[in-house]
Amino acid sequence: MSVGVTGWPVAHSRSPLIFAHWFERYGIDAIYQLVPVAPDDADAFFANLPARWHGVNVTIPHKRTAAQHAVLDETAAQLGSVNTLWREDGQVHGTSSDGHGFVANLTAIVPDWTAREPKTAVIIGAGGAAPPIVHAITPALRRIHVLNRTREKAAELAVPGRVEAHGMEALPALLPEASLLVNVTSLGMVGQPALSIDLAPLPRDAVVADIVYDPLETPLLAAARSRDLVTVDGLGMLLHQATVGFEKWFGIVPEVDEALRAKVLATL
Ligand code: NAP
Repeated sequence: MSVGVTGWPVAHSRSPLIFAHWFERYGIDAIYQLVPVAPDDADAFFANLPARWHGVNVTIPHKRTAAQHAVLDETAAQLGSVNTLWREDGQVHGTSSDGHGFVANLTAIVPDWTAREPKTAVIIGAGGAAPPIVHAITPALRRIHVLNRTREKAAELAVPGRVEAHGMEALPALLPEASLLVNVTSLGMVGQPALSIDLAPLPRDAVVADIVYDPLETPLLAAARSRDLVTVDGLGMLLHQATVGFEKWFGIVPEVDEALRAKVLATL
């Protein structure tokens, strides 16, 4: 059985490693392949997904194109993008599992994150990774603030009464009311400048999460840990989002365990 990840480029993907771990663990006879699809070919590829693909993950830049050719679940329909396609009743279906991955990992590490007062998230960044995360945490929280260097992109995520958009200058005033702070920018990633923030105004029981996973401990997480704040790294999101495809394709919810984390960590 063939499954894989489509994107352009896809060579950097850790998904083959993640799925190979689960194939071995659950005794599944399948291969997970890298499927580079050039942007000019994407529309035709997803419009007629070749029969040999039992299911595929979709990564940048094809998430929106793929969504135009699939039966979407509620999450994918709201976001207008997919990262997981599967076959069901003779049709190709799609969902977006990044938000699930973020929330499942956060819940595994901080089970009471939704109960921490004042139930307010400060999300820094409004690029491609932000919409699924904002969408996934919105039902659980009272208020979400999205800050971005380019304020107009944050404004696209605003929901009256629930999700407010800001420029970065709003950060110091918002930190004292954050029970959850998340870096969704590429700052802190290998080769990028750090996201430098004075965390002193954060409540003592605030949770600080970063979706960057290379390095595993970003400068933001190091600063949070030095203040004894609870931290959540980005690797768990990557692993948990992959469970959705595995379940859709093979009917098993795979476990995200330490052995899997160690295998992926060894490649960073
Ligand atoms: P993206 O679409 O390129 O967005 C980049 C974001 O970073 C934008 O909000 C951008 O602000 C901001 N940014 C970049 N440089 C900046 C700077 N010098 N100062 C202030 N803001 C800056 O990227 P993405 O797809 O959202 O991904 C963001 C990061 O998350 C990447 O490191 C990616 O590897 C990681 N990621 C992790 C997972 C996971 O599973 N853990 C999943 C997806 C992504 P502007 O809008 O102003 O440019």
